[in-house]
Amino acid sequence: MSDPDELLRIEGIRKTFPGVVALDSVDFDLRRGEVHVLLGENGAGKSTLIKMLSGAYTPDAGRILVGGEEVRIQGAQDSERLGIATIYQEFNLVPDLTVAENIFLGRQPRRLGMIDRKRMEADAADLLARVGVNVSPRARVRDLGIARLQMVEIAKALSLDARVLIMDEPTAVLTSEEVEKLFAIVRALRADGVGIVFITHHLEEIAALGDRVTVIRDGRSVGQVPASTPEDELVRLMVGRSIEQQYPRERPEAAQEAPVLLSVEGLTRDGVFHDISFQVRAGEVVGIAGLVGAGRTEVVRAVFGADPYDQGTVKVAGEPVRRHDVGAAMAAGIGLVPEDRKGQGLVLDASVAENLGLVTLRSASRGGLVDLKGQHRAAERIAGQLGVRMAGLSQHVRTLSGGNQQKVVIGKWLLANTKVLILDEPTRGIDVGAKVEIYQLINELTAAGAAVLMISSDLPEVLGMSDRVLVMAQGRIAGELPADEATQDAVMSLAVSTPTTTTTTEKEAFRGH
Ligand code: ADP
Ligand code: MG
Repeated sequence: MSDPDELLRIEGIRKTFPGVVALDSVDFDLRRGEVHVLLGENGAGKSTLIKMLSGAYTPDAGRILVGGEEVRIQGAQDSERLGIATIYQEFNLVPDLTVAENIFLGRQPRRLGMIDRKRMEADAADLLARVGVNVSPRARVRDLGIARLQMVEIAKALSLDARVLIMDEPTAVLTSEEVEKLFAIVRALRADGVGIVFITHHLEEIAALGDRVTVIRDGRSVGQVPASTPEDELVRLMVGRSIEQQYPRERPEAAQEAPVLLSVEGLTRDGVFHDISFQVRAGEVVGIAGLVGAGRTEVVRAVFGADPYDQGTVKVAGEPVRRHDVGAAMAAGIGLVPEDRKGQGLVLDASVAENLGLVTLRSASRGGLVDLKGQHRAAERIAGQLGVRMAGLSQHVRTLSGGNQQKVVIGKWLLANTKVLILDEPTRGIDVGAKVEIYQLINELTAAGAAVLMISSDLPEVLGMSDRVLVMAQGRIAGELPADEATQDAVMSLAVSTPTTTTTTEKEAFRGH
């Protein structure tokens, strides 16, 4: 007997990689017109599971049934033929082609043997309108921002008439406005009878969008629950223990008298940010909140020497740091965990050990020779301390999950004995379990006397982990709030304000000293 509403069924799927059991035994099913959330910590096996549906991997054991029939999915074409469309974390579009060309890649409508551009672009325009995105079919994909890329991927899925749409962490890279838009599209697709497999780390999205949740832990499905399940119960299923404290910030009493490690004075980059002044003391976590585009990343990149600035000074422990010189910033003890860890923080095709050693390689060399053994021992120690889940130090960083990749980025700065660590969106796209581990690392760093400067768009995180919060708006510091006065409302009202140039006294008054 086959249930007509059942689109997909997975039974006892297993997949191993050399040294790793990525999936041990997973069961999953998807029905018409539902959003089925796949929940699990980083490294639990979610991406591996969906790659078996998209034909990227084939299972070692277990069965996949589509519409009640057992199928073998051995490549993207099999998957497409079965009505399965996948939107990966890393998009699958060709940057140099147009939007229309990408949507119809390999399936362009033809007329008299030639590609019928007119029809292709008209069809693409229809699809884009259905998704509700304002982008020209002739635009080059390389010129689009992330939200639009995603919409183009969805339009492509619609063009394939997909009955199963798989989305791997689609909201990790979107602003809250874009998330709302995406949800509207997903709801419309669900109403049309499409089944959607939705991966997210944002627990609040589950109740808002989902119908059912399957929880995967260490390569096994450990539970299937309704999307209305309380968040703490979802967390408990996901990590196999309850997390007492989501933001375990330990506030050292003496931080106010501790020496200033980072001092930024009057930093200005014409047209980008203006008159940025602040200090971070040893043992302190200073958060930088603000809307996307407020200039937060630009400021910290300038502090780290990655970008130039026109006026002002950066000092570490009282010593000026040469501007626009990453080497000088690193030598002074500044480290940066960038927003874009895959692009800037890591060498994806190098091993864990090599990535951990990137910063220290220079200091580890003795008389021109790199102390490889010492390097390896240090990498082993730090990877263990960070709890990096991996097959071994020689595993390529590309194949680690997001949370584990981020631990490697932070780990390389720990190895380098960084005094001032700057974190730009340190937990974006990372699950709650790994988040708490990263927060604990931050606590260890500050306990050891480091200064931490943290940009985050995740307000509860900024409020929960910072000792003081700087709020930026339109390239300026709009205000500063001590932890006990920093509420969501207080931060938001500063973030949307129009800061004007203020005198120092006004600034002091504003800070409430
Ligand atoms: P998730 O998407 O839930 O974060 P993944 O499916 O990416 O988890 O990873 C599951 C496990 O399989 C992890 O331990 C990961 O390191 C490992 N893994 C994934 N892909 C590969 C690969 N190509 N080679 C080796 N190990 C891999
Ligand atoms: Mg994944």
